[in-house]
Amino acid sequence: MREYSHLEECVNNLPYAVMILLGTAILALGPGPSPWACVAAGTYLAYGLAGTLWIIVFLCPYCRFHGTRNCPCGYGRIAATLRPREDVECFAEKFRKHIPVIVPLWFIPLLVGVVAAVQSFSWWSLGLLIIFGVDAFAILPVVSTRHGCAQCPQRDDCPWMGRRRRKPTRSKPTPP
Ligand code: SF4
Repeated sequence: MREYSHLEECVNNLPYAVMILLGTAILALGPGPSPWACVAAGTYLAYGLAGTLWIIVFLCPYCRFHGTRNCPCGYGRIAATLRPREDVECFAEKFRKHIPVIVPLWFIPLLVGVVAAVQSFSWWSLGLLIIFGVDAFAILPVVSTRHGCAQCPQRDDCPWMGRRRRKPTRSKPTPP
């Protein structure tokens, strides 16, 4: 089983970190800089950090990588300092329960960015929105499924990987 260095863990965290920073910038700019836009941006940034902690505390203890260096992003090591390992058979159930907590992080900046672009268009805002979309909806999923998750021993139980794997097989003809 592959073990990850601290540098690799940092690199694997980059797409999520970039998404949170870009999302914060999109909310801070909003339809125009204002105190409320700053409050919204600060709240989104805090939500992004809290979302990471939520996953570490409520999902990672059920992962086979808990307390090992096999976790691609290093959460598993941090989780071991906060909670003991739990029953790994519950991983899929916990994944379905806790991943929705962080899903709005992908859509809030998108929504605000589109509204801002309609209300007061600027190339800066549009550029940020496009880079956010590419990072959040292309780079981040590709990095996680082709890199970290591809080597995960519980990919067969994981709702995320199961969904990704089933997609291409639908279009293939069934062997005789
Ligand atoms: S692989 Fe995912 S669920 Fe498992 S310890 Fe790492 S971050 Fe947590």
